[in-house]
Amino acid sequence: DHTRRLFDAASKVNIDIPYSIEDLNQIQKDTLKQNKLEEAYIRPIVFFGSEELGLRASDLSVNVAVACWEWPSYMDPEKKKNGISIVTSPYKQYENPLYSNNKIVGTYVNSIMALHDALARGSDEALLMDIKGNISEGSGENLFIVKNGDIFTPTTENCLNGITRQSIIKIASDLNLKVKELNLQYEDLLNADEAFFTGTAVEVTPISKVDDRVIGSGKIGSTTQKLQSIFEDIVSAKNNQYKDWLYQI
Ligand code: PMP
Repeated sequence: DHTRRLFDAASKVNIDIPYSIEDLNQIQKDTLKQNKLEEAYIRPIVFFGSEELGLRASDLSVNVAVACWEWPSYMDPEKKKNGISIVTSPYKQYENPLYSNNKIVGTYVNSIMALHDALARGSDEALLMDIKGNISEGSGENLFIVKNGDIFTPTTENCLNGITRQSIIKIASDLNLKVKELNLQYEDLLNADEAFFTGTAVEVTPISKVDDRVIGSGKIGSTTQKLQSIFEDIVSAKNNQYKDWLYQI
């Protein structure tokens, strides 16, 4: 799914990747193996060569690099158990018909600005709103809330349709929990019983505070805990139900 997403994003900006999806999957497996990593983050990246500079540059080579490294926890492990604090960002997640819902490096300047602003204000993550003032997402995460046992998450009109987001929607539905995609307001987050972020790096991370206001009990909620634990079991090959999500190396 991640590799397919990379190919989709490249085609959105007219980059023709000189490998097949299968080749690039194999290259990622080989990179992990050759670096003797048992648990790691993999970051394939596609970029133009610098044969010519300038906006009119054409016929540039297309290069692919695969980096992988040990990344035990994107967030402080203690906070992953108990909850992170987030702040509303002054940076907005604007819809751009060309880039929206694609992982394209240039658009990440906005996410980096938002995250650095949040960190400078003593928080753990940023909460980005969309152009209409609805909740969009974190700088590198999708957001979910839980209210009276039901789960809500913003539509993908103005946020990335994260692969972890899709996985959590599937797991929650399989648990017969109600999941609804809709426009979420800031007040919905403030009044939620639980809130959490999802992402390949953060997996499922509870949010305990937004702009210094406590969400729910201020601790990880039972629904978040259940989804976090099932997701952790799935990605560490301890859950058979979703084993087709894994890629054998
Ligand atoms: N939103 C943004 C802006 C992201 O960068 C990410 C991280 N890829 C996500 C959401 C979560 O997506 P995924 O679950 O596919 O990692």
